[in-house]
Amino acid sequence: MLEKFERYPLTFGPSPIEKLSRLTEHLGGKVDIYAKREDCNSGLAFGGNKIRKLEYIVPDAIASNADTLVTIGGVQSNHTRQVAAVAAKLGMKCRLVQEGWVPFEDAVYDRVGNILMSRVMGAEIELVNEGFDIGIRESWTRAIADVKAKGGKPYAIPAGASVHKFGGLGYVGFAEEVRQQEAEMGVHFDFIIVCTVTGSTHAGMVVGFAKDGRARNVIGIDASFTPEQTKAQVLDIAQKTAALIELGQDITLDDVILNEDYAYPRYGVPSDETNEAIRLSARLEGMMTDPVYEGKSMQGMIDLVGKDFFPAGSKILYAHLGGVPAINAYSYIYRNG
Ligand SMILES: *Cc1c(COP(=O)(O)O)cnc(C)c1O
Repeated sequence: MLEKFERYPLTFGPSPIEKLSRLTEHLGGKVDIYAKREDCNSGLAFGGNKIRKLEYIVPDAIASNADTLVTIGGVQSNHTRQVAAVAAKLGMKCRLVQEGWVPFEDAVYDRVGNILMSRVMGAEIELVNEGFDIGIRESWTRAIADVKAKGGKPYAIPAGASVHKFGGLGYVGFAEEVRQQEAEMGVHFDFIIVCTVTGSTHAGMVVGFAKDGRARNVIGIDASFTPEQTKAQVLDIAQKTAALIELGQDITLDDVILNEDYAYPRYGVPSDETNEAIRLSARLEGMMTDPVYEGKSMQGMIDLVGKDFFPAGSKILYAHLGGVPAINAYSYIYRNG
């Protein structure tokens, strides 16, 4: 589906799929749970889903002769950390706008985890006191203009690498990769669980799995707490990506399944139930998830299994999109485990 698009390799290759046997057993054994480890997909500063998206964006950045990647996220953004790593790898500069999207006051919130790594990797970071919004931000536009004013050549990457013409391609590729791995493993996944915020991960999967009729088997778990905006953005990106790759199939609102039940109390703040899900998967599988994204999709998957949302015998693929470095910024919550 992606033959005509240039890809700049930043990942190790296909990310591994493993069975989560102890979690499967713990949840009653009626459904089989697997994880696709996008959190282990690259050697670039712990990897994650933005690296897979950036493989299809970097060729455009290189072709534009840019010397500085400019992007935006929250203070503990995984996305900005991954862009900083890619800039370092390419020999480009990196300018990051990091906004106060999360009202969370751990003593070291702006010192550890993702932002620490971005600083060490040499990114120039501007902290901006603005609240959460997945849309296009004035602070980002200003940073792009500032790079230009200082004689640099910026290449603009929006939040989450989502609202970019190639932002959806990486996760179309994910679906192709899953099909290949299914053939090798002799397994067919009935459901794919994905955490959704800026939308192009989910959108790419909808397009990629539409090819074999599984668009609606992609279960998005909202972590934005602004689900209407997120759902509209997923649909928009999916439709544009489908047109771009000439899918030959319409993507409609019904193809975007977004569960809104687990994003509370708000973006970036874990509920007690999210923290329990993080502890459970850590203790059963040694698999770490984070309090902003993957802990919420893990909570959602566990809860939906308990409610018999998935028919008995289903095989479920949990897309682990990365994000664990952020847990360092929540040290007080986990001070006793
Ligand atoms: C960015 C991110 C997501 C959400 O992906 P979107 O494409 O922004 O919807 C989920 N999990 C992790 C760990 C992320 O870094």
